[in-house]
Amino acid sequence: MLSIIDIDRKIPLKAHILTFLLCILCALTSHHNYQKDIYIHLKCMLVRTPTIREVECKTLLHTMNYERGYPEYTINLYRGCLHACVYCYAPSLIQDEREWGEYVDVKVNAPEVLRKELRKVKKGVVFLSSASDPYQAVEAKYKVTRRCLEVLLEHDFPVLILTRSHLVLRDVDLLKRFKWVRVGMSVTSVPDPRFEPRVPPLERRIQTLKTLSSEGIITWVSFAPIIPTLFMLDLHALFQALKEAGVKAVHAGLLRFENYEISRRMFEKKVGVRYQSVMAGSYAVRKSVEELARRYGFDTSTKIFEWREPFSLERYLKS
Ligand code: SF4
Repeated sequence: MLSIIDIDRKIPLKAHILTFLLCILCALTSHHNYQKDIYIHLKCMLVRTPTIREVECKTLLHTMNYERGYPEYTINLYRGCLHACVYCYAPSLIQDEREWGEYVDVKVNAPEVLRKELRKVKKGVVFLSSASDPYQAVEAKYKVTRRCLEVLLEHDFPVLILTRSHLVLRDVDLLKRFKWVRVGMSVTSVPDPRFEPRVPPLERRIQTLKTLSSEGIITWVSFAPIIPTLFMLDLHALFQALKEAGVKAVHAGLLRFENYEISRRMFEKKVGVRYQSVMAGSYAVRKSVEELARRYGFDTSTKIFEWREPFSLERYLKS
């Protein structure tokens, strides 16, 4: 499915080790100050930098289901995700030997592939993304998500976005031109770098939702995964902030590793606890989250996603 066309090569670890040893040798045998060089190479040896590859894909649109009588598609413009969340399901879907969060393959030809595919398929909502974040940091450089949004706009497809990054604000000009678009931000019960190493802070995400809403874009929050015994949030404060940010809907989801064995093992290894041990009282916790969300006036149904629900469809066709 993918062919590698270029590798953003980092200096290999071996080269750092050799240069580090050489610097020490030079420092011992000369008067020159090698302190800075030693520090740089030592840091490179200890702190791994993610690998970014440019790849070409052959297909992109994936049909998720037809249950509502029209197709729902998902597209992943990146393979891998630098956000590196420890609870992520994607490692089980991708099954790559590389360490999760330490690599990303950029599908540089995605817009061209998408353009060809959209000509052949029935109109349906396109979800960005299911196994990567469409606005992870590399998007700032590659703009693959932006270019694909331009293609979707050309073909007048409705779009559903879910991200954890404020980079989505870069594309407000495009988003405002869609007839139907929903932008969601992910929030979890553990908004902390120990669980989500490279995800922007929660406050930044809420501010992003506020800006999107003020631009007239309908926003929602995926409050998932909820890890019942790892709940690091004041839910009242969160919902109050989301309300003030103009968020329309909140969807709660529990951490689930059924059929995601690789992800379960990664979670248990990185967090140091067994999955079952953090799920105590899970359904009661989810229920109380949903009840509170409703009390704050959020829609907890899936109505917000119904681009062909009578009212939305009518508006869609007339607009
Ligand atoms: S942002 Fe989403 S896709 Fe990326 S690591 Fe986190 S959970 Fe996985």
